[in-house]
Amino acid sequence: MDDCVFCKIIKGDIPSIKVFEDDDVLAFLDISQTTPGHTLLVPKQHVQDIFDYDTDLATRVFDHVPMIARGLRAAFPEMKGLNICNNNGAVAYQSVLHSHIHFIPRYSDADDFS
Ligand code: ADP
Repeated sequence: MDDCVFCKIIKGDIPSIKVFEDDDVLAFLDISQTTPGHTLLVPKQHVQDIFDYDTDLATRVFDHVPMIARGLRAAFPEMKGLNICNNNGAVAYQSVLHSHIHFIPRYSDADDFS
């Protein structure tokens, strides 16, 4: 998709800080850094949202979730917990229409976001 910011990141046309990459996915730091280590996992194939996956692609993408979580815990040992979320549709707060999974490390009860 020519006008998709995540497709541009995958192609290398927009810079990102890569966390993990293979043939199916790219994980990179979210520019907002809601908390330190906030990471996005995206399929390299442009799919808009969860309703756009077939089972094979869903398996190849979502199978990465525990590995990314463990990698973040190793990289940020002070992390106490982790929010993993996937917004689908504008009314569900999806602003970038290329499916992505958020990993938001939590460091204390007082982390300043909801
Ligand atoms: P929301 O903006 O409500 O979190 P999404 O779930 O669609 O909606 O999340 C899109 C995420 O993409 C945001 O957290 C945003 O900070 C991130 N983002 C947008 N552009 C970039 C970019 N160039 N590099 C890294 N992250 C980006």
